[in-house]
Amino acid sequence: MTDSQLTGTIAAAAEKARARDAEDVLAHLRDRFVPAPPGTIYLNGSSLGRLPAATSGRLARMVEEEWGSNLAEARTQWLDLGERIGDSIARHALGTGSGEVVVGECTSVQLYKLAVAAVRARPGRGTIITSDDNFPTDRYILDGVAADHGMNVVTLSTHADTGLDLDALRAALDENVALVSLSLVSYRSSALLDMAEVNQLVHDVGALVLWDLSHAVGAVPIELEATETDLAVGSGYKHLYGGPGAPAFLYVRRGLQDRLRQPVQGWFGHRQQLAMLPAYDPDPTVRRFQTGFPPVLSLTALAEGVGLVGEAGMDAVRAKGLALAELLQDLVAEHLFPVGYTLASPPDARRRGVHLTLRHPEASRLHPLISRADLAIDHMPPDLLRLSTTPLNTRFTDVVEAVDRIRVVTGELLVGGV
Ligand SMILES: *Cc1c(COP(=O)(O)O)cnc(C)c1O
Repeated sequence: MTDSQLTGTIAAAAEKARARDAEDVLAHLRDRFVPAPPGTIYLNGSSLGRLPAATSGRLARMVEEEWGSNLAEARTQWLDLGERIGDSIARHALGTGSGEVVVGECTSVQLYKLAVAAVRARPGRGTIITSDDNFPTDRYILDGVAADHGMNVVTLSTHADTGLDLDALRAALDENVALVSLSLVSYRSSALLDMAEVNQLVHDVGALVLWDLSHAVGAVPIELEATETDLAVGSGYKHLYGGPGAPAFLYVRRGLQDRLRQPVQGWFGHRQQLAMLPAYDPDPTVRRFQTGFPPVLSLTALAEGVGLVGEAGMDAVRAKGLALAELLQDLVAEHLFPVGYTLASPPDARRRGVHLTLRHPEASRLHPLISRADLAIDHMPPDLLRLSTTPLNTRFTDVVEAVDRIRVVTGELLVGGV
């Protein structure tokens, strides 16, 4: 295949993509983000979501007006901010009602709190199950919780490109399991698990499930209530657009709340927070999973991102996400398989989140060249490249352009280098 033919096919794809951009019901949301520098395409939203255009103004107003001028009243109206933003995430992105989600610390700490609460609620059981597809911080946290409680961690082996096989989970489950903790969407392969089915399997042996929704929330529809999910946490800085280090949410099913005790007992979890009583007495609601004053400035930024997700609506996000994914996958097969790429993700877009991972033996040499071509994607050493087509701010034409840049850069490296 000659260059001119490839250019021809790509040109035709670009033409079709322009028509799809013109019909895209979410197209207007792209302008609600600060534009990338001219010519740059950002497909790295699975590492850090883009900056909403209104965030800096909202932060400035918050700092100057509420904090600066209105100190006293403002302080008390911030007290329940972690709960209010939790309710908003629940409604827009988690398929559940109010009073089950709070926002506070980073994902790692939220996971720690709920993992400890869960193992305490299953005394006498000695096992925590996770998988080798789970994000490293989750595995470190679970290892620490197990060590502190005299338990052992069973780490299920997964297929690097397609994720966890539920038969492996079935085989590992027995009445000695206290907790199963998995990522709904794999940070690596994008593999999406069946939440309802996993919950059912784990409940059948009387254990609890703790989901990490970091790569799923705001990217794929989630139904915590309908799937009878026990516990979950999720990052605020990927598909919720809360900014670097944005606080994470935690979710506890209402029926479990007053039976679980989390380990970091602070005043924001107290039944009578402002009574300043000498002894800890946990609030009966989801408030008990809070610890200290929530990061109000960060929550203000997060509220803006969550609002955009709510405006889009998760059904529309999913529909566009699948359309972008199918376009990307077709173009990858046509233009990137011939220059050495293979899929490192499940081949069915409905079994993935919003990123697609590619494998190339030269990935670590290619990644800086791709960045220099003004295409931002993630590199996971040694040989993976992750492209995140976030529906709120990616155009169909961006997908075509991105594949073309990767094709050109890779062709140059292969011809000039090895
Ligand atoms: C991004 C991410 C985190 C982030 O953890 P922090 O403690 O908030 O930095 C945790 N788990 C998963 C699966 C993630 O994708």
